[in-house]
Amino acid sequence: LVVLDQVNKHFGSLHVLQDIDLTVNRGEVVVVIGPSGSGKSTLCRTINRLETIDSGTITLDGKALPAEGKALARLRADVGMVFQQFNLFAHKSVLDNVTLGPTKVRRKSTSEANKRAMELLDRVGVANQAQKLPAQLSGGQQQRVAIARALAMEPKVILFDEPTSALDPEMVNEVLDVMIDLAKAGMTMVVVTHEMGFARKAANRVVFMADGQIVEENTPEEFFTNPQSTRAKDFLGKIL
Ligand code: ATP
Ligand code: MG
Repeated sequence: LVVLDQVNKHFGSLHVLQDIDLTVNRGEVVVVIGPSGSGKSTLCRTINRLETIDSGTITLDGKALPAEGKALARLRADVGMVFQQFNLFAHKSVLDNVTLGPTKVRRKSTSEANKRAMELLDRVGVANQAQKLPAQLSGGQQQRVAIARALAMEPKVILFDEPTSALDPEMVNEVLDVMIDLAKAGMTMVVVTHEMGFARKAANRVVFMADGQIVEENTPEEFFTNPQSTRAKDFLGKIL
């Protein structure tokens, strides 16, 4: 569904993505882990061209991602994104946060968008918060709204960049549980996270990045019990 072929990206002299080859199949959950600064967020951001790339190709559902313009906007709408900091519109209600994309980008009617938004808010367990402003919700609730907002666009894939790392510990599981449900429902997901419990339960594959390279790719069982590279062994030694 998502194919990166020899993708390279520099920030000035820093070679932040080096010859990245990555295929994410339909319905697959790929967890990306690695040390700080290894390029995980940049990798996510290139998949929907929030970052440009210097060379290589990215295809989404068989179509090469164009560099700009309307065609890019169309393909980008198929890629959902959930960030560490929720990024909800602070001055809009929870419901409006979820309906904005579908009405503006997908051209759905307000009544249809509202109906669907309420179903999604119910699915992530915050339907009773629909009329509130984001700031009136807990972090865990806000992140579940962000997931509902991503789902409302009916994306082909959702990218999660450390979705639980800004949350108080007691709220981490309520967000991970929603993500596990999504995975079980067959959503294609790329998840940057250090939550090993999630990786073990939901991931089909773990991708380990270091210094802008994919160093190792394996099933979670294999990766956690039998990492191959020194970098991965060192990293796991620090976080497990
Ligand atoms: P973390 O675990 O801390 O989130 P990461 O693996 O997500 O790290 P990236 O955010 O992708 O890492 O950053 C990779 C490298 O690129 C880092 O060295 C970072 O400082 C650098 N970098 C990221 N964004 C920019 C930018 N806009 N301009 C210049 N350098 C950047
Ligand atoms: Mg990051």
